[in-house]
Amino acid sequence: MKTAKFGGSSLASADLIKSVCDIITSAPERRLVVVSAPGKRFAEDTKVTDLLIAVAEARLTNHSGVVELERVKERFGEIANGLGLPPESIQMVRGDLDDRLGQDPANGSLFTDTMKAAGEDNCAHLVADYLRQCGHEAHYIDPREAGMTLSDEPGNARVLRQSYGKLRQLRERPGISVFPGFFGYSESGKLVTFPRGGSDITGAILAAAVDADLYENFTDVDSVFTANPNVVDNPKPVAEITYREMRELSYAGFSVLHDEALEPVFHAGIPVEIKNTKNPQAPGTRIVREREVGDLPVVGIAATGGFCTVYVSRYLMNREVGFGRRLLQIYEDEAIPFEHAPSGIDNMSVVAREEFFPHAVEERVLRRIRTELEADEVTVERGLALVMVVGEGMQYAIGLAARATGALAGAAINLEMLNQGSSEVSMMFGVKEVDVPAAVRSLYDEFFT
Ligand code: ASP
Repeated sequence: MKTAKFGGSSLASADLIKSVCDIITSAPERRLVVVSAPGKRFAEDTKVTDLLIAVAEARLTNHSGVVELERVKERFGEIANGLGLPPESIQMVRGDLDDRLGQDPANGSLFTDTMKAAGEDNCAHLVADYLRQCGHEAHYIDPREAGMTLSDEPGNARVLRQSYGKLRQLRERPGISVFPGFFGYSESGKLVTFPRGGSDITGAILAAAVDADLYENFTDVDSVFTANPNVVDNPKPVAEITYREMRELSYAGFSVLHDEALEPVFHAGIPVEIKNTKNPQAPGTRIVREREVGDLPVVGIAATGGFCTVYVSRYLMNREVGFGRRLLQIYEDEAIPFEHAPSGIDNMSVVAREEFFPHAVEERVLRRIRTELEADEVTVERGLALVMVVGEGMQYAIGLAARATGALAGAAINLEMLNQGSSEVSMMFGVKEVDVPAAVRSLYDEFFT
């Protein structure tokens, strides 16, 4: 049995949905299908999820939201008509959207989640309707009945362990099951969504729950590339990559697959295939537990900005038991997740995302570090990017760090930070955000051309 997930760009129009249904029905083992909400039809278009967020925002700021909702109805109406579905199908969607808008908006984040989930939910209904119209046995699956139970964190939910046992029963369902991605229900029955892009997570959870032979993730690119094609011209495609390589690259900006989506399939050891809906014959990229490294130690180069680092130094820090814990305790008290904490003999840097470190918080954190830890020096640097060189071959190859730093030096890039060895499969460089394109290009040239 295969679990196949189709992203919003694969479901943006009736014609694309027809291609999706051709792909689904071309392999009898594709029995569990996850759909996103219709995405953009052209570059300036708006995703249905964003239209729904605008509806929720309007309603929460004392507008009716009716005008905004009309745009969502139009998108779904166009799709239903293009698929030749009977009027009842679109009536059902319109009724569902009106019901959601009519719900009590007192709890803003729960109301927003209920609106946001309408994109996936109605898309799943229409896909199931269309498959049946084409003569296939297909069923819409209600995530509540199926047992997709999530933590009570609107917009940022995580799956609860108990879901897996219940969801496993989907194995026994006859025909094609069409499951809406992106949302589930809390234990107390409230609708909650995953973070944005979370249909990938739904697909991975279902693949693990039913113990699928393969999790296929259909998107709009032929494969994962060794570097961002907007930065490097014609980067090489990646045929095979391990979970941990993919995890590191997704962390650092490879957006093909949501970075939380690998966890369920990683634990279950289920291979993932990234495929292109518009070119399903292309081999795609396969994500697996182990791969033959061959003579290319590096599989990809990624970069992501928006970080800041706090540098703390104190003479004889190494002798002071508990210094690191007390420093990180300040971050914990302020609810700032720290991303990395490289350290030296008498110094330690804490890297965090700038979105969690606004200037008001910065002032408080620095004051506490100075007074409570009696630091000799505390400085902050903003506008940092992390550049990652990733590959399973990294742990065995000699001289890779020298090659990487040599390439960066050749491009006149100043290194703000270097972290090698903490991870067996990556090297991480902190550079100024403005230096990212040059850094990525120089590393790509070094390792791939
Ligand atoms: N539709 C949701 C979003 O735009 C979830 C997804 O597409 O995976 O974020």
